[in-house]
Amino acid sequence: MAVKVNDMFYAYSKQEDINQKGEYGGVVTTIMKYLLENNIVDGIVGVNQGCDIYDARPVLITKPEDVIKTAGSIHFGTLNLAKFIYKYLDGARDMKIAVSCKPCDAMTIRELMKKGKIIKDNVIMIGVNCGGTFSPVAAINMIKEVYNFNPSDVISEEIDKGQLIIKTSDEEKSFKIDELEENGWGRRENCQRCSLKIPLNSDLALGNWGVIGDLKGDATFVEVFSDKGASVLNDVIENDLIAFEQPDEKGIELREKINNSMLMQSFKKKEIDYAGTTGDIIDVFHKYEDEFSRCMKCYGCREACPLCFCEDCCLEADGPEWVPGGFTPAAPFFHLTRMVHMVDSCTNCGQCSEVCPCEIPVAKVWSTVNNKIKETYGYMAGFDTGSPIPFTDHVSKVKKL
Ligand code: SF4
Ligand code: SF4
Ligand code: SF4
Repeated sequence: MAVKVNDMFYAYSKQEDINQKGEYGGVVTTIMKYLLENNIVDGIVGVNQGCDIYDARPVLITKPEDVIKTAGSIHFGTLNLAKFIYKYLDGARDMKIAVSCKPCDAMTIRELMKKGKIIKDNVIMIGVNCGGTFSPVAAINMIKEVYNFNPSDVISEEIDKGQLIIKTSDEEKSFKIDELEENGWGRRENCQRCSLKIPLNSDLALGNWGVIGDLKGDATFVEVFSDKGASVLNDVIENDLIAFEQPDEKGIELREKINNSMLMQSFKKKEIDYAGTTGDIIDVFHKYEDEFSRCMKCYGCREACPLCFCEDCCLEADGPEWVPGGFTPAAPFFHLTRMVHMVDSCTNCGQCSEVCPCEIPVAKVWSTVNNKIKETYGYMAGFDTGSPIPFTDHVSKVKKL
């Protein structure tokens, strides 16, 4: 059977150890291991659990027997793997990799590919559905205050049917995510606003949404989004590594329903977040003036942002006329300059807000302006639609004259 773009399957690993340790049949792990064992890629980029479930660590795996260490998901991890690939693997310039990516990883990787910072032909993107992630410290506080558990007793967390389920070795409690969020707990605020839950900009998208019937809990719903993804899945099936079957029609509908309900929640959050401003840069900065006045110019947001990639940052340059003595400009100009550099590309990944020691809602500000860019130019950051990148396309046209 030849797999093609837009095909959908229920699938689970035929490799017993992976099936047991991986979530929902261990298909992601099986695919990754196959790619590495057969030298189709040189490395796997994924996330490992560090010292506990609040500690997510990016990893590069080069030995097939180690792939299983990345099995499972970590909701209390907030990493963006695009930065890891761009900064520490030189944008996959000299190696082929497969990366397991949440939608915001996929969007940011695509954005960096469009800008030549990650080499498209060297990366296979194995996408995983995402309902949201939680900042570790906020999660620890929520577990103490709301769930009334000792955070170090927690052995797993899961999102199911709009509930956040927290388990210790002898107890389980769940609360509705929207109620947690109404009370200031819950997912990161950029996740509450996130517009992509199924990573359809990856080569494959996998997740448990829509798996019903006998396979519920034991299989993954797989959708194919590119020829590269089709070829990988075909190989794994031909090598008899995964079992697969056609998904139930009702399962397909259910998956769509889950996706739509999450997108509707995000839509409402965006309406709240973008209210009270036209979205124009100066207007947005004016709205957040008080918040930005707390900025201590630590450069954390710039360092964490996967799309802030200039090798020589003009904000640090020693002596341009507009920065006397090479001092960092006053806070609004620091942010305005950074915004002008990369506002077309913000993927709402939340890394900037995550690190800001002054709790400035940096991602919300960037997302507000990026939304205006989308409305004005119809340009979608994080998708390779072949449409020109605003501003840079104009520059390239001028260069050709
Ligand atoms: S921004 Fe979206 S894709 Fe990224 S972790 Fe949050 S919900 Fe998931
Ligand atoms: S500005 Fe913030 S939210 Fe936007 S891409 Fe950079 S780190 Fe992510
Ligand atoms: S991380 Fe926060 S305090 Fe640091 S430069 Fe960015 S906005 Fe300012």
